Amino acid sequence: MPHWDLAIIGGGAAGLSAAAAATGLSTLLVDPMGGGELMNLGPLRGLDTEETGPDLAARLLGEAMDAGAELAIGEVQSLTQTPDGWRLATADETHIARAVILAVGLAHGTLGLPNEAEMEGRGLSHCAACDGPLFQGQPVAVAGTSRWARLEAEELTAFASHVTLIAPGEAPPPIENVAILRGRAIGLEGRDGLDAVLVQPDDGGPPIRVPAQGLFVQTGRRAALGFSPDGLRRDADGRAAVDASLATSLPALFAAGEARSGFESSLPAAIADGKRATASARHALTPG
Ligand SMILES: Cc1cc2nc3c(=O)[nH]c(=O)nc-3n(C[C@H](O)[C@H](O)[C@H](O)COP(=O)(O)OP(=O)(O)OC[C@H]3O[C@@H](n4cnc5c(N)ncnc54)[C@H](O)[C@@H]3O)c2cc1C
Repeated sequence: MPHWDLAIIGGGAAGLSAAAAATGLSTLLVDPMGGGELMNLGPLRGLDTEETGPDLAARLLGEAMDAGAELAIGEVQSLTQTPDGWRLATADETHIARAVILAVGLAHGTLGLPNEAEMEGRGLSHCAACDGPLFQGQPVAVAGTSRWARLEAEELTAFASHVTLIAPGEAPPPIENVAILRGRAIGLEGRDGLDAVLVQPDDGGPPIRVPAQGLFVQTGRRAALGFSPDGLRRDADGRAAVDASLATSLPALFAAGEARSGFESSLPAAIADGKRATASARHALTPG
């Protein structure tokens, strides 16, 4: 069974930058594809770069390879503590690592509606940059309250005939050419694809039918930590609780990026987290 100094689970911005900072350590990076959320992003906001998401993913992957990391394509299914270190298993391989960084990001959210799974890919999407052009000249909606949900709505105005942002709670700031409906999606209508979203407005009025051929779900995302060991402390959203050095409640186990508690969602923060987690792991691995 291969032994490593460091294993990084998740190859998005946080995991790739963690690997890029691991020069001198034998490092394994496990991810189903590489790039994570970056692969869903076109132009990047808040970074001083002309790169798109996939460009940045390719650059970070190159830096990780230059630092000597090895990439295993797969999904970690279990992580257990052994006397030799952390044992991580994918469907095909098992590895032992002295320290591990959890950089698994957040899983797509769901609305909890009965026919949601069958609408996936037939109107329901999680990525405006990927699927927005499919809805040229058609009405679409976005469900979610985060600033990324608002950005998705704004991006979709380039393609769609009409964009509605369905956002429960406090009124979000206005967005040009986007109708904001304060409420919750409670139903999806359509036979061979989505035709409309049924929304329960916050004001307690009767449900409103919002015509939409596409619905972009940006709500209900949770940390993808189902494989993680017993004893890992988590916050209310299921993210790994960490201290200032990004150490979790378990020895030699760190968490970075969207997967950890208190993370302020952005690419610069994910990149900084990756580097910090590796620095802490390196410290934990250094005797004395
Ligand atoms: C719609 C949207 C738009 C955004 N736009 C911007 C922007 O313009 N500018 C900006 O600064 N930020 C933006 N962000 C935020 C930014 O993209 C994220 O904060 C950042 O990408 C998070 O990186 P991460 O590495 O923590 O997670 P992710 O990028 O989600 O990476 C996690 C990786 O872990 C993998 N993984 C999960 N489970 C396992 C497992 N069991 N085994 C192995 N691998 C696993 C996943 O497949 C994925 O590749 C946006 C976010 C969203 C949702």
